[in-house]
Amino acid sequence: MAKLIDGKAISVQIKDECREKVAQMKAEGVEVTLAVIQVGNDPASTVYVGNKKKACEYIGIRSLAYELPEDTTEEKLLELIGELNARKDVNGILVQLPLPKHINEEKVLDAIHPSKDVDGFHPQNVGALCIGKPGFVSCTPAGIIQLLKRSGIEIAGKECVVIGRSNIVGKPMALLLLRENGTVTVTHSRTKDLKEVTRRADILVVAIGKPKMITADYVKEGAVVIDVGIHRNENNKLCGDVDFESVEPHCSAITPVPGGVGPMTIAMLMNNCVESVALQK
Ligand code: NAD
Repeated sequence: MAKLIDGKAISVQIKDECREKVAQMKAEGVEVTLAVIQVGNDPASTVYVGNKKKACEYIGIRSLAYELPEDTTEEKLLELIGELNARKDVNGILVQLPLPKHINEEKVLDAIHPSKDVDGFHPQNVGALCIGKPGFVSCTPAGIIQLLKRSGIEIAGKECVVIGRSNIVGKPMALLLLRENGTVTVTHSRTKDLKEVTRRADILVVAIGKPKMITADYVKEGAVVIDVGIHRNENNKLCGDVDFESVEPHCSAITPVPGGVGPMTIAMLMNNCVESVALQK
């Protein structure tokens, strides 16, 4: 039977470490502040923003909530980001996605000062990751590296295959695995023989966005499988991009959905907020 990689427990460990660091900083008179901006009231976004606020509270990070109406103009939003960029008492700025259609998402994300970009989406931070310089790293892939390391899974020298090449998961994931000395292959919707490539993987990271697409025939015996996907199935139950029942018996370790990668994203966001203080110095 495969070892279950417990994202819930590891995320609590990370949040507790952040909480300790924040308490130490407070004792030295330093407060960590995250500004969270939500435009409109998309119900899923409201849940995500609520979870981020709760995590801030738990850790001792001050959170500033900006709940802007759906018809907020791009200009107004950019103005607010400009103000928050200039404020010395704000360490991190997060704009909850997706934004309403009339706002250019890329323009907004690029306007966040790289030293406050705790989501790690700014081109400067992505470039820094590429050439191994300090900067913020996208939270989901950063969380996956923590899942692997804290579960005692060696990355150096391993065949690592990433399915998906999105800017927030697939690409930074590949760069992080490379930084850890994995031998990395990135696959995507135009990959010719996906199974042939994925069956080479010692570590397979799946970020496709297609429920249960990855079945046992994509997986080498004894591989480690990380499932990034989150979907609701026909019975309203959560499932991933991996068909857990079919794949699990063939792996040495696997992340469940829920309770695998999901909880790590907020934990790493909190970690980025804590690290922002040192980066800004
Ligand atoms: P995306 O849609 O931006 O990218 C999907 C990628 O999969 C693309 O690069 C595409 O080329 C590739 N792909 C699509 N069909 C394929 C196929 N048949 N074969 C091979 N590759 C194929 O998605 P994303 O933002 O990277 O997210 C992927 C999944 O992870 C989604 O289910 C999303 O909900 C989930 N997600 C979870 C978290 C988390 O915190 N757990 C965070 C981000 C995303």
